[in-house]
Amino acid sequence: MESRDIAPGAGEWESEIYHEAVGQFDRVAELINLDENVRERLRCPQRSIIVTFPFRRDEYAEVDTLYGYRVQHVLTMGPTKGGIRYAPDVSLGEVAGLAMLMTWKCSIVGLPFGGAKGGVRLSPEGLTRAELQRITRRYTAEIINFIGPNQDIPAPDLGTNEQTMAWIMDTYSQHQGHATPAVVTGKPPELGGSIARREATGRGVVSLLTPSADHIGLKVAGARVVIHGFGNVGKYAAVAASELDCKVVAVSDISGGVYDENGLIVYNVIKWVDENGTLEGFPDADHIGNDDMFTLPCDVLIPAAVGGVLTAANAPDVKARLILEGANNPTTGEADAIFKERDIFLVPDVLANAGGVTVSYFEWVQDLQNYFWSENETVARLREIMSRAFAEVLAISMDRHVTMREAALIKGVERVAKAKLVRGVYP
Ligand code: NAD
Repeated sequence: MESRDIAPGAGEWESEIYHEAVGQFDRVAELINLDENVRERLRCPQRSIIVTFPFRRDEYAEVDTLYGYRVQHVLTMGPTKGGIRYAPDVSLGEVAGLAMLMTWKCSIVGLPFGGAKGGVRLSPEGLTRAELQRITRRYTAEIINFIGPNQDIPAPDLGTNEQTMAWIMDTYSQHQGHATPAVVTGKPPELGGSIARREATGRGVVSLLTPSADHIGLKVAGARVVIHGFGNVGKYAAVAASELDCKVVAVSDISGGVYDENGLIVYNVIKWVDENGTLEGFPDADHIGNDDMFTLPCDVLIPAAVGGVLTAANAPDVKARLILEGANNPTTGEADAIFKERDIFLVPDVLANAGGVTVSYFEWVQDLQNYFWSENETVARLREIMSRAFAEVLAISMDRHVTMREAALIKGVERVAKAKLVRGVYP
């Protein structure tokens, strides 16, 4: 019983993001009057793995020690699922918080997974392909007994990509003695990856623009859209928004933003970034700072870069009537309260960006069956799952008079809690 006295986020998983994730969970647990025993179990990730391993640079001058992590939050629902990130600030607490969010995300869209997350603490910039390959293979070897198609299925996240997944799949398969594509998702299509995975998150986010706009009485055609982040999520969100005849008035990457009140030609922006690597120098628009993005005149704001960008400092000046969270955790708790107060309709990350894990689920199913669907079939199934989840979350939000974030978490937490109660305690 003593562990119940430990403050949320304290102890083994101490970190801002774990603290926030537990705080959100606790608020929802109160709202639904969650069983105290289940509450305590869901606060604590079930498995937290820390590994250290040697890494030698190409010139072999010295051997460094690297830290790697994998956290599996809940094993009740099926295998666990979640990305692997390579970043300099990766910690056990960070991946624990993100693993918890993955549990709710999978549950909200009805996937048979618990949440997981992993990572290696390093700066991938400046490392050679051979170095990244050695790191990936050794990290995989260290966690190999904890991953697998029926156990835990990694995917790309910050600093990792299709190639990283190919190396993980190859390392795992070498140890098994046969090709095992279903051990990871987000692979290259040649290895059984889904063709639609690359665009899934951005397109999934924007698939919720129309039902959200209908709900708040906003006209979709001509709606002004601002997108913070122009990577995998932001770029395809921009394409999908322009296909809906919205006016994408601003996009940004780490170098800053570009703005045209009459609407950017998204195709030209993508062409520029593909050729130059960044938005810097894009000729056909005004250049603005990243911080200015959030307070531009617009109807729809899509944060699609990093966490913690919508804060108490800029939330009062946000002009958008609709926020679709493409990034994970872009809104602080204080900003969330301000948006609620200002009646800004916010579709939370655990729902809005669930398109990525949904298509990952499709990839896993297809790999297990060795039967592959067409791109159109995959996209149609993605739309169906996203719009059903949206309608269910909206109904909870209206019935219980809670925000969309609270409603999404209620849906996510309730399903997992019921599963835990019905499975019982072992032994
Ligand atoms: P990405 O690396 O492809 O793109 C990130 C974009 O953000 C780039 O344009 C980059 O220049 C910009 N950026 C990076 N740091 C920034 C900073 N400090 N300030 C402003 N801009 C910055 O990443 P992504 O895959 O598009 O992921 C973006 C977000 O979406 C992340 O929060 C990620 O966790 C979340 N997400 C991604 C997926 C997916 O399928 N890719 C799924 C769910 C959630």
